[in-house]
Amino acid sequence: MMVWCRFFVLFFLAGSMVACVGPSLKINEFGHFVKDFEQAAKEHGRDLRVRHLEIGYGLTIPETAVASCYFLPFVAPHITINRDLWQQIEPACKEMYLFHEMGHCVLHRRHSKKPKSGELPDSLMSWNTLPCDAYLKNRSAYMQELFGQ
Ligand SMILES: [Zn+2]
Repeated sequence: MMVWCRFFVLFFLAGSMVACVGPSLKINEFGHFVKDFEQAAKEHGRDLRVRHLEIGYGLTIPETAVASCYFLPFVAPHITINRDLWQQIEPACKEMYLFHEMGHCVLHRRHSKKPKSGELPDSLMSWNTLPCDAYLKNRSAYMQELFGQ
C-alpha cells in the first residue's frame, strides 16, 4: 500500500511538473520519424501534433533495448536511443522502434498483452518486439490499432 502511495505521489508530482514547463521539442535528427508519426496518425483519423518530446542517444533500460521512453520531472517525455544497436538496424525497420516508444511517450500507451505462442503480436505496443518484416507487411493494420483507439 505504501509503495503504491509513493508511486502515486511521484507520478502526480511528475505530471504536475511536466504540465508546468512549456512545450519542448528536441528531436535532433529524428524529426522525420516524428513527422511520419503525425502523418500516420492523420491517415488513421487522429489529428496529432507532437509538441512535447525529446529524442536523443543515451542509455536505455534494459541496456539491450534499442530505445526507451522516460517520463521525468521538469522535462519533456524523453526517448533515448542506444546508438550501437540503432546503427545495426535496417533503415526501414527503425520506424517500428521509434513508433513503439512514441506510443508510450506521446500517446501514453502501455504495453499490450503478450501474443500466444506462435502468433504475431496484435499491437505495436506489445511487450514482444515485432519481427520487422511482419511490421512492414502489416503496417497499416498496426497503425490503425495504434491510433484508432
Ligand atoms: Zn515499450
